[in-house]
Amino acid sequence: MKVLAWAKDEEIRAKGSSGGFVTAAMIAALEKGLVDEVVLVKKKNAYEGVPITTNNVEVVKECIGSMHFVPLNLSYFIKSGVKTALPTKPCDARAIIERAKRNQFNIDDVYMVGLNCGGTFNPVLAREVVLSFFEIEPETVIKEEILKGKLIIESKEGKKSVKIDEIEEEGYGRRNACKICDVNIPHMADLACGNWGVLNEKATFVEVFTDKGKEFFENAVDAGYVEFREAKKEEIEIREKIDKAMIKLAKKWREKLDEINDLDRRERLDYYIRMFEKCIGCNACKEVCPPCVCEEAKCVSMNDEMAGYKIPLYNLVRLLHLMDSCIGCGQCEDVCPVDIPLTLIHKRFSERILRKLDYIPGIDMRTPPFQETKILFD
Ligand code: SF4
Ligand code: SF4
Ligand code: SF4
Repeated sequence: MKVLAWAKDEEIRAKGSSGGFVTAAMIAALEKGLVDEVVLVKKKNAYEGVPITTNNVEVVKECIGSMHFVPLNLSYFIKSGVKTALPTKPCDARAIIERAKRNQFNIDDVYMVGLNCGGTFNPVLAREVVLSFFEIEPETVIKEEILKGKLIIESKEGKKSVKIDEIEEEGYGRRNACKICDVNIPHMADLACGNWGVLNEKATFVEVFTDKGKEFFENAVDAGYVEFREAKKEEIEIREKIDKAMIKLAKKWREKLDEINDLDRRERLDYYIRMFEKCIGCNACKEVCPPCVCEEAKCVSMNDEMAGYKIPLYNLVRLLHLMDSCIGCGQCEDVCPVDIPLTLIHKRFSERILRKLDYIPGIDMRTPPFQETKILFD
């Protein structure tokens, strides 16, 4: 089912980044008792947001709009046994699926309201972009949005836009995890929402994937919070074209950012040693890693700071454990105080084995291959 949908409430429709469907449907889900609470991000300013859980529709209305400068992962905020709806970028949805596999909650209790995603920005670098590319004082930004490949910044002086390609050619732009991310429409969520394919109207292109997604959508329509029409062929084609272009762009960035592509085996080892020698053992990358849920973590317990290994066991264990579980969200790299390019390194380690195992983490509820006993005896 592919439709264009929008909030019936004119204010929500006007304020929403693409017709307010997500906000209106969340409110309907709360008011009709489909869910107990929703997880959202409450904006502090253009660069900071606080994840919240709420069942208050007025609070939901305050959280309207997208936040490309706040690259949070919301999967941690789902409580076991609580029926929850939340907006999910593809990496949120993949994180939710991996955490559900690890019994953090029941996936049947979660309504994943997918959001198409072309990428998010590191908030510190976003400030630099605003200052140097837009010549706007970062603290005066009222709103940002991404439309047709452009970053649009709204401040007291009005709106300015710059092509994201131009920003990225200068070494700024989206997080590296996002530059190489090739899952932009969240097919693994219950439904996917976004402005790709929407031409000149305030509406959200919605694709429904699951029975839960259908239930969530119909609840909003039946409650009178949302209106919709079938998507036209042209709109569907435009959305597909954008998705394909994003996948192609991710491939280009994957090659461009991969510093070790042309190195021989010895040079590659030197590269990994150089990178991991910088590690200060703060464990932050583990703390924020969505699939890492073990309380007594082997990467921590096996590590010995006094051992003097060139590559700490902590990092080696993590590389091994995440080979079938890394969803490429980039949270680890965001928090690494010594800027180790962790997303790309994890991707490098996992992609060959995943191809061999014909498995993609975070796409469905299949057990991660390394957790299947049979793999040991194959
Ligand atoms: S990793 Fe992918 S899904 Fe996640 S924020 Fe970046 S582009 Fe979006
Ligand atoms: S290793 Fe990094 S990129 Fe991979 S799932 Fe964990 S936090 Fe995300
Ligand atoms: S966040 Fe960086 S410095 Fe901290 S443990 Fe992870 S790799 Fe090491």
